[in-house]
Amino acid sequence: MSPKTSIDHDDQPQPNNSFWDIIRYVVIIIFVAAGILYYYSQKPRLLTAQETQGMTMGTDYSVKVADFVKGTGSDVWKNIKTQIQQRLDGIDRAMSTYRADSEVSRFNNSDSTDWFDVSKDTAEVVKTALEISRLTEGAFDITVAPLVDLWGFGANQQSDLTIKDLEEKTIRIKQIIGYDKLEVRLQPPALKKSIPELRIDLSAIAKGYAVDCVAVLLEENGFTNFMVEIGGEVCCRGYKGSSGTYKTTSQDWIIGIEKPFIVSSDGFSGLQRKLSLVDRALATSGDYQNYREINDVRYSHFIDPRTGFPTEYLTAGEPKPIERLASVSVLTERCVYADAWATALFVLGEHKGLELAEKHGIAVLFLFRTEQKDHPIRETVSTTFPK
Ligand code: FAD
Repeated sequence: MSPKTSIDHDDQPQPNNSFWDIIRYVVIIIFVAAGILYYYSQKPRLLTAQETQGMTMGTDYSVKVADFVKGTGSDVWKNIKTQIQQRLDGIDRAMSTYRADSEVSRFNNSDSTDWFDVSKDTAEVVKTALEISRLTEGAFDITVAPLVDLWGFGANQQSDLTIKDLEEKTIRIKQIIGYDKLEVRLQPPALKKSIPELRIDLSAIAKGYAVDCVAVLLEENGFTNFMVEIGGEVCCRGYKGSSGTYKTTSQDWIIGIEKPFIVSSDGFSGLQRKLSLVDRALATSGDYQNYREINDVRYSHFIDPRTGFPTEYLTAGEPKPIERLASVSVLTERCVYADAWATALFVLGEHKGLELAEKHGIAVLFLFRTEQKDHPIRETVSTTFPK
């Protein structure tokens, strides 16, 4: 018998055929399962709208989402609502001058001129505020806080002063404001004042920043079609959906700009404009909700840092204008810029405001209350604002 040269398969251990059968079945099952998953991942999904409202920063907010997948568990939207409220509460806790324990209040009350640690959010907002101060040649200036309080608008408002007291105090307080006395550091986040008395007020920019933060939170949760509004500052992404559709229709989010008439606090004087907002933000600063009357003159809550006085203040002998700037609306990509620019352009007024808006490509609408019965509102826009 020839020596075994070839391997005789009879007495070798046979590969277990059932093993390869099992492998074959498993592979088939995996392929079938992958095919089903791929089919469902590509299958258009029924969308529905969701919304939530709440309070933040002394005002209300509203969030509407158009591409919520129908059939998603109710706990998903509940969780997102909680995330939104927590994000807004965090910004309020950090930046409110209406809370003594906020980091802004603690910075304001500190007379240290060393670096003062703050959150990343606050440092980001102050960095943007200083950027807008430089772009607007000082018309936007968050260090006007003591003047805002003096004229009765801030958290620590004084309201029983005569116009003479106000004039004297304004001239004095004007010496301790100025964005050039404020520094910000992002890493690690901190603020620094060059004079102990410096105080900041983020009311003209923090709401816009908060709108942008909620927009980012929604995008991180996979939404691309939504509207976020806080105290009149709004940003829209994508389109407004309609329930039961497989994709958000191309129906734009339509946002109204109010007629700037003085109405009761919960009154509404109708819409001056309706704007379709796709992937843009809109902020409006107006004199018709937050104002004070002293000796029959109505002062709004806008302080001109260059004079220290409210924008409506007239020096002795200065003639009363025949029309009055009532509101400024700004369209930009990020709401933080719209919010700050709207205040700055209100302070700058029509001519200087339009000049700067054109220079920096800012889309702005100025509304004036005239004394003319047949033409009570006059509009003027920058070239980039929708006609
Ligand atoms: P905008 O037009 O956006 O800004 C006007 C405000 O900016 C003025 O009120 C003044 O504060 C400031 N300002 C004026 N002139 C200038 C200038 N030249 N440059 C820069 N800023 C200027 N209000 C409450 O009643 N209760 C609260 O608990 C409360 N909490 C708040 C918490 C936070 C974090 C913030 C930011 C604000 C809070 N507010 C609160 C204020 C309120 O939310 C609004 O910010 C305020 O009424 C102004 O909103 P607005 O959109 O009308 O003003």
